[in-house]
Amino acid sequence: MSVKARQSTPGFFSVPQQRRFRKNILAWYDRHARDLPWRASHDPYRVWLSEIMLQQTRVAAVIEHYHEFLRRFPTVEKLAAAREASVLAVWSGLGYYRRARMLHAAAKAIVRVHRGKFPASEEGLRALPGIGRYTAAAIASIAFGEPAAVVDGNVERVLQRVSGDRLAGEELWIAAGNLLDAKRPGDFNQAMMELGAVVCTPRAPSCLTCPVVELCATRGELAPKEKATPQKKREIHYALNLRKEDRPNQEVFLVQRPGDASLMPGMWELPELAGLNGTGTPSFTLRHSITVTDFTVRVWQNVTAVGVGGKWIAQARLRQIALTGLARKILRKAKLL
Ligand code: SF4
Repeated sequence: MSVKARQSTPGFFSVPQQRRFRKNILAWYDRHARDLPWRASHDPYRVWLSEIMLQQTRVAAVIEHYHEFLRRFPTVEKLAAAREASVLAVWSGLGYYRRARMLHAAAKAIVRVHRGKFPASEEGLRALPGIGRYTAAAIASIAFGEPAAVVDGNVERVLQRVSGDRLAGEELWIAAGNLLDAKRPGDFNQAMMELGAVVCTPRAPSCLTCPVVELCATRGELAPKEKATPQKKREIHYALNLRKEDRPNQEVFLVQRPGDASLMPGMWELPELAGLNGTGTPSFTLRHSITVTDFTVRVWQNVTAVGVGGKWIAQARLRQIALTGLARKILRKAKLL
């Protein structure tokens, strides 16, 4: 879906604030944009090449390879006509060779299907191999002036900080589309990415020099998500007593929770062994988590639980009575269920 449509949500800025944001960031970009070789041209071949090279690669490494690539393959026709081995050789050092293969495949498609002319729309570009939503919007806006917003890691961080909200997924694309300057979409997109790369950095953003500081909700790093409550750890012990073990219908000793218990009233479980001093070896151990507690459950066989009223239940009946989740787990492990 294109983000050209101005949608109303998520709308963290009023219309005058949006205007101010665009004006400030574009004025800053005009004065401070880094002088990068691909910014000298709006030629779609060069824009495309730089966008693909910049994926997962540092700007400095891309600069080194960008010139050499253009020297060897100055046009999309030359790239399409090249052998794959030659393309990969020039790509060497940039890594992620799939990008180079896709670039080569897309060049062939542009020559074969589009007679050497790049599709001039975000939609048309997306139909080419290796061109996803971000790259299509970047080429369409920078090379063809189409008002298509981009979202990459830098834009995501800027949007989250200026809005003070952990926008995610589609919300980010909508927010970027809302802010986009329709008259200078390519410069606006580059300004957003540049701001994220050099001012609104992941750690210690330079808010004092930020052109949109007066509009920013966070003015610093977004507070980390609240950590989940740490799991408490507890050890509990249960007695697993069996009788008539050698007969087909052996029985297991269970107790029933009081009918007025706040948790699992009336349900059946194994008798808990309180105050066990931990000597000896349990028959088996298992883990059980309930909300914020992580239990280590030790099960002891043929240990008498003191002062517990309970009942011998035939194994065949275990499926018919209401067992607690943990009792079920223990009985399964003991192969009684
Ligand atoms: S004020 Fe700081 S946190 Fe906000 S956008 Fe600018 S650099 Fe990022």
